[in-house]
Amino acid sequence: MNRYFNCLFIVLIVACNNPQKQNDRPVTPDDNSFTLFQPRFLDAYWKANPSAAIYAGYGKYYDELIIPDSNSFVSSVNFSKQWLDSLHTFKYDDLSDNDKIDYNIIQNQLQSNTWYIDTFKSQQKDPSSYNLGGECYYLLTQNYAPLAQRLQALSAHIQHAPEYYIAARNIINHPTKEYTQLAIDQNEGSLDVFGASMTDSVKASSLTNEEKDTLNHRIALTVDAIKNYVSFLKNISADKNYAFSDFRIGKELFAQKFKYDLVTDYTPEEMFAKADSAKHYYNKQMFIIADTLWKKYYGTAPKPSDSLALIKAVLDKLALNHASPQTVVDTAAKLIHDLEYFIKAKDLFNYDTANPLKVRIMPAYMAGVSLANAESTPPYQKSGVTYYNIMDLSKMPAADAESELREYNTYSLQFLSIHEGMPGHCMQGVYNNKPGSIIKSVFGNGPMIEGWAVYCEQMMMENGWGNNAPELWLVLYKWRLRECSNVLIDYGIQCLNYSEDDVYKLLKNETFQEDGQIKEKYHRATVSQAQLCFYFTGLSDILALRDDYKNKMGSNYSLKDFHEKFLSYGSAPVKYIREVMLK
Ligand code: ZN
Ligand code: ZN
Repeated sequence: MNRYFNCLFIVLIVACNNPQKQNDRPVTPDDNSFTLFQPRFLDAYWKANPSAAIYAGYGKYYDELIIPDSNSFVSSVNFSKQWLDSLHTFKYDDLSDNDKIDYNIIQNQLQSNTWYIDTFKSQQKDPSSYNLGGECYYLLTQNYAPLAQRLQALSAHIQHAPEYYIAARNIINHPTKEYTQLAIDQNEGSLDVFGASMTDSVKASSLTNEEKDTLNHRIALTVDAIKNYVSFLKNISADKNYAFSDFRIGKELFAQKFKYDLVTDYTPEEMFAKADSAKHYYNKQMFIIADTLWKKYYGTAPKPSDSLALIKAVLDKLALNHASPQTVVDTAAKLIHDLEYFIKAKDLFNYDTANPLKVRIMPAYMAGVSLANAESTPPYQKSGVTYYNIMDLSKMPAADAESELREYNTYSLQFLSIHEGMPGHCMQGVYNNKPGSIIKSVFGNGPMIEGWAVYCEQMMMENGWGNNAPELWLVLYKWRLRECSNVLIDYGIQCLNYSEDDVYKLLKNETFQEDGQIKEKYHRATVSQAQLCFYFTGLSDILALRDDYKNKMGSNYSLKDFHEKFLSYGSAPVKYIREVMLK
């Protein structure tokens, strides 16, 4: 699972409807330095992208909403061109290491924005990119200001919601069927955001009666606009003659999207080959471990002759060892405590455990996606609590909870807590928000963030977590197989025409996944491209960097030094961090 809302940054569509005003004028080297350039660029960027500004916690433009008509996309492309020209007036070689990274991040962000609009045309193909639910939920619930002030921002933000949804309907052009269905589901979900809890908040607030009336009226219009949008999409969906675009984007577009979204020197084909050979390697290692564990779990029962069947049989036994719906949150909280103790005892980080990291039951609106997630404060919001959220399984039907607990059994729950919590997403989120360059925090690179969390699972085992229990290694390799197969099915479906049945066979037989997970994964692969490659690619890039850094440092190498340096660059792409760390 991603750090909360992180994905939104990666697939962000830049939209801006106002031609640049005088005060947004791109700076030139006469303005003295790159240091001055950055805040001016960012301010202009947030102004042009007020919805993204909400997720970043940059409060200045919460009142604004960009109407996604065709002019707005033309303006957005112009915005990118102008700021790229401005960026290119700086001499790259003269910049400091930190500024070089920022330069590269800004350049990629702007080039990628133009590509998404002009080439990929996501504004036409993806109706799910139009949805006011998430940002309005954020305005309502994020504790950055008193409630009345947040509701005033909300009121201003949604005053043109009807025009927003009408513009969306007009610009959509041969979307994919899968994105259309996703947009229906997600916008229907957003209706909850504008439901009773929002109107109750309005009622309880200190707004004047007039302000309340205005806001309630706007909420009602927004609800109508969403409902109209949903029925428009349902009509398209039901039209048997409608010419949907194919959700498979093919090799050429995939390679381009891979380049912009991942920022790595690997090509998709190299990653596919690497993932395939890793799959064979992990299957082999798992057989060796499962074979030695056989006696412990099956006594003298005959071993299956098929090696994959033997692995599966041992994994099935391990799955029986799990927490109960009532104890799972406490178990995870205890694990976080133990993990914090472990990273201190082993001297792996300078992490200050006084940082507030809270384990809690997942808020209801996030539930249903994954057993756990990490929720960090937005980069501009410097104080706040980092949450490791766990779903409340006691509210689930018993059979579903049991299946969830078998998947996240005693062994798996440890990797989940490392990945989402400590020292994975929650801890990296804290480092990401440390004072330093904001560019590296707000344009977080998905493969760096996911690669880090996956890297931590392995790194903790290498350092003796769990006393090297073979059960833990076996389960870790099952997790690794999931990341390899994410690459295989992403590229396979998008570029090699894999069918749903091909995907089922691969995930079921070779990577030991359950039917529910497989269905979910296939669906995800039809409404994303290259995103499933983040985990394994990020891991590969981080491990390669660690090896090379170790060589460079020789006898001065320490793991803690590597970690602290690596994490000091916010959530920058590993490729850019590499350039300065190996210099
Ligand atoms: Zn993750
Ligand atoms: Zn059970």
